[in-house]
Amino acid sequence: MPERILVTGGAGFIGSHLVESLLADGHAVHVVDDLSTGDLDNLAAVRDHPDLHLVVDTVLNHPMMDREVGHVDRVVHLAAAVGVKKIMQEPVGTITTNVRGTEIVLDICHQHGVPLYIASTSEIYGKAGDRLHEDHDRVMGSVRHRRWAYACTKVLDEFLALAYHQEKGLPVILGRFFNTVGPRQSPEWGMVVPTFVRQALRGEPITVYGPGTQRRCFCHVSDAVRAVRGLLDHPGAIGEVYNIGSEEEVSIRELAERIRDQLGSSSEIVHIAYEEAYGDGFEDMERRQPSTAKIHDAIGWSASKNLDSIIAETAARMA
Ligand code: UDP
Repeated sequence: MPERILVTGGAGFIGSHLVESLLADGHAVHVVDDLSTGDLDNLAAVRDHPDLHLVVDTVLNHPMMDREVGHVDRVVHLAAAVGVKKIMQEPVGTITTNVRGTEIVLDICHQHGVPLYIASTSEIYGKAGDRLHEDHDRVMGSVRHRRWAYACTKVLDEFLALAYHQEKGLPVILGRFFNTVGPRQSPEWGMVVPTFVRQALRGEPITVYGPGTQRRCFCHVSDAVRAVRGLLDHPGAIGEVYNIGSEEEVSIRELAERIRDQLGSSSEIVHIAYEEAYGDGFEDMERRQPSTAKIHDAIGWSASKNLDSIIAETAARMA
């Protein structure tokens, strides 16, 4: 049945793909986005859709959010300050948007009795390691390392969401995105795949930060959106937390080599110290690989696009 759905952060990278997918299936979609990392160009394909209602504003605007949530059947809360570089450069804005923003959304959804989905992140596992299942212990670095501020804000979001569910009966679903890649992801905030592809295509040095032994898994945004849609349609997901990511792991050095070789580029691969790349207060995580057994058991989901096809698609888009 068609629903009316509010997507906060709907002009962002993942949000805009979700909005398109919901509109294509006949839902009416409200978008609230302050365009801090989002961009109206991301919604160009659906900008004139009669069922798209766009509000350019921050989720911190309580009266506006109260009005918007009052109009909808459910909320998907994606609005957040994202990207490691942004977090390193704008820690106050990051902490405020992520903590206060989610608190406002939860409070208003509770007032209106509107169910919601909240996007969380693999950052919350910190330095915990590989094959991260949802109940894995989290390992955070020192507060001197600003990077962990982001993880802590999202952990607080998760605790608050689960508290609203347990104490007040608010139907809430939590999904933790691991590294996600695809059309409209801007290299501006340092995301590694579009950055390396752009460098390879231009014949510029490919900049591996730190040793390059750190490992990641990259999931295509279309798979990530399919996961969110599946969870929204699954009543058993309420009150639960799910990893959303690919399990195909690659080291960052190997990623640089694969991108260079796959694109036939003559770029050299250079190593840059973390301090030079991010400034003081940065600490990386060595591995970040999800277990996706839980979401697979719940809705039969797993990532369908492999890394080679993601690299090829990113290059075709940027060429
Ligand atoms: N990275 C890199 N070169 C770049 C950008 C990122 O080597 O130009 C590294 C970064 O230090 C991290 C990994 O690639 O180890 C993934 O970075 P990204 O910011 O894409 O996501 P993260 O997993 O850190 O959230």
